[in-house]
Amino acid sequence: HSYRHSYLVGPPCRCRWAVMPSRHCSMSVEGRSDPSMLRHLTSKITATGPITVAEYMREVLTNPVSGYYVKNDMLGADGDFITSPEISQIFGELIGVWCVSEWMAAGKPKALQLVELGPGRGSLTSDILRVFRQLQSALNGAAVSIHLVEVSPKLSQVQAECLTGERTQVCVSDKEAVYHTGTSHTGLPIAWYRRVEDIPKGFSIFLAHEFFDALPIHKFQRTDKGWREVMVDIDPEEPEKLRFVVFPAPTLASTTLIQADDKREHVEVCPEGGVIVQNLANRIVEDGGAALIADYGHDGTKMDTFRGFRGHKLHDVLLAPGTADLTADVDFSYLRRMAGGDVVCLGPITQRTFLKNMGIDTRLQVLLRNCHDASTRAQLIQSYDMLTNLEKMGQRFQFFSLLSRSRLAEPQEEGEGLKRRKKGRVPLPVAGFSELGLQ
Ligand code: SAH
Repeated sequence: HSYRHSYLVGPPCRCRWAVMPSRHCSMSVEGRSDPSMLRHLTSKITATGPITVAEYMREVLTNPVSGYYVKNDMLGADGDFITSPEISQIFGELIGVWCVSEWMAAGKPKALQLVELGPGRGSLTSDILRVFRQLQSALNGAAVSIHLVEVSPKLSQVQAECLTGERTQVCVSDKEAVYHTGTSHTGLPIAWYRRVEDIPKGFSIFLAHEFFDALPIHKFQRTDKGWREVMVDIDPEEPEKLRFVVFPAPTLASTTLIQADDKREHVEVCPEGGVIVQNLANRIVEDGGAALIADYGHDGTKMDTFRGFRGHKLHDVLLAPGTADLTADVDFSYLRRMAGGDVVCLGPITQRTFLKNMGIDTRLQVLLRNCHDASTRAQLIQSYDMLTNLEKMGQRFQFFSLLSRSRLAEPQEEGEGLKRRKKGRVPLPVAGFSELGLQ
């Protein structure tokens, strides 16, 4: 592990080199079932009729009693899927550099809120905080605070262990927006919230890695009579089984969520994701900051992407609900539309391009130069390949950013240009999205 110390200061990382080839790799998880979730859904459907796919997804993933995210730590080799921050520390380190670069480009505000949505095991924020400590002198005494948005009590505990060790406190009142607080290993305040709306105002860098794909989607099918919503119903042949049905009449969602000129046969829309992006955009306009959203997705072209993962295998989305992760590709064209014109959207660009622009090759070389253990070297190379190879995560995962308009504005007149330059506010290239990024 000597290479870590030569590269970054900080406590030794957890060992997370047990790389699985991808979310599709095989591993058997037998015998897991959750009849209570199925019962909950069937009684709901019996009482009020078929439910929307969005309601199905919301219940299955985040129902406060038995939701998949609420009860499980599903990440890693023993879980249902593995993510980039879990595969290599380099991933979070490069995003840490991105955060510092955006903070500098904004004119180095005195306070910096680092906000992560859906932090999983906390690995991404943990790697970023190590970079912040390393770049302490560049951060110039800025008051950094960490804000995590997490619905899962189980995962918030895992995050607290990872980020704070013992220095943590669960807030007793259910009514407070903050439900958990702590101090990071590097001495920074951390607070946990359930909703984006609860985060305090102020200059913020927002990060969302594999967060938007977990938010509920509505599904629509083109029919002779126009768009109709796909719903989840009980199979009349087998009362213990669920099935998809196309609702015969228009629903509120089918009449409001589809673009008139959409040419697809089948469309998925995630209004919750839209509301969150609007919230981020408004905050960026009002208080300054930037958002970096990384997920698998498309630009308004794909159709049926709703799927389940269990034990690193594809899993029928309607089978044994509550025991598998449910996810849908993120529609970046929808997020861009919802962000509105007051912010600038960059991307989506592939993970490979983003990481290459951020200097992943140089970082890998630095780590390899300082590492003499053959198996660790092999793991470093393997995880680099997993993140950047176009056949693996390099292509499927996309990076998308929301930035303040002033961030990219070229000075209009010479006089103003001079003023900006004096204040150190000449727009810089956006790291990661432009090859000039960090050179
Ligand atoms: N970002 C992490 C984890 C991805 S899994 C990684 O890449 O490894 C999705 C995360 O979002 C989990 O932490 C889950 O509990 C959280 N989550 C899912 N739905 C949420 C919601 N509606 N509000 C807040 N957090 C949510």
